[in-house]
Amino acid sequence: SPALHVVEWSDVADWWPGLGPTSEKYSRGVVGVATGSATYPGAAVLSVGGALAGPTGLVRYAGGAREEVVREHPSVIATGRVSDAGRVQAWVCGSGLGTDERGATELRTVLAAPVPVVLDADALTLLVDGSLADQLRRRDAPIVVTPHDREFTRLCGEEPGADRVAATLRLAAWMNAVVLLKGDRTVVGTPDGRAYVNPTGTPALATGGTGDVLAGLLGSLLAAGLPAERAAAAAAYLHGLAGREAARGGPVTAPDVAVALRAVLARLP
Ligand code: AMP
Ligand code: MG
Repeated sequence: SPALHVVEWSDVADWWPGLGPTSEKYSRGVVGVATGSATYPGAAVLSVGGALAGPTGLVRYAGGAREEVVREHPSVIATGRVSDAGRVQAWVCGSGLGTDERGATELRTVLAAPVPVVLDADALTLLVDGSLADQLRRRDAPIVVTPHDREFTRLCGEEPGADRVAATLRLAAWMNAVVLLKGDRTVVGTPDGRAYVNPTGTPALATGGTGDVLAGLLGSLLAAGLPAERAAAAAAYLHGLAGREAARGGPVTAPDVAVALRAVLARLP
């Protein structure tokens, strides 16, 4: 397909919002992270870790794991609820959030904000089960959904199948959202039929929590002003490189990926 692009380092370097002498924390962008809960604080720590590695100047956290987040990442401004978080230029919502009424309320508040959002994990479950479809369709600001295969199947009602590009584009058109379908070769697709394939994947990433790091990084790229499809393609590319980098030190855990991201990003202009 002519509209299929294999992501390269030079793409990411071209898209990257570099630092300059007039850079200031707010001008670099503020990303909000609404993930985790008292039950799943680790998901919050990991997604905030991914967000902190990215190009934004400030990370705000809103959720039930604020103590753990601030202990692990003291530079983060943390509150309990999305409605108390203040202004951000993008939200990340989902992993470890919980699918109870509190989680649904937080997701609705995120969707009501006029900024790009990343929806992952429990946010995707809430989309399937809840009555949020209308709120999604009425939304003007970009949405990026980041399903793995099982989440894709629940969203779509069928498995991705062999043609993962076609499957990604189908879901993107149907949801009117950018879809990042995770896997060995992660695919990013847009509602109007453009697709990207990421070549940097590594099975070293097949371990719990790495998707949370990816979602946080992606949110940072959105808040820094990258268009949704570029943010998604760049996040998948850099996350794959970070997985490879982390694997050089032995078996990979998700926090290693967040740390390795900094080394990978240090090579960008
Ligand atoms: P999650 O399942 O949400 O934690 O996300 C897992 C992450 O690891 C995604 O970024 C996947 O693309 C990546 N991943 C999982 N398995 C593989 C694999 N076999 N090869 C490459 N990447 C993988
Ligand atoms: Mg996940």
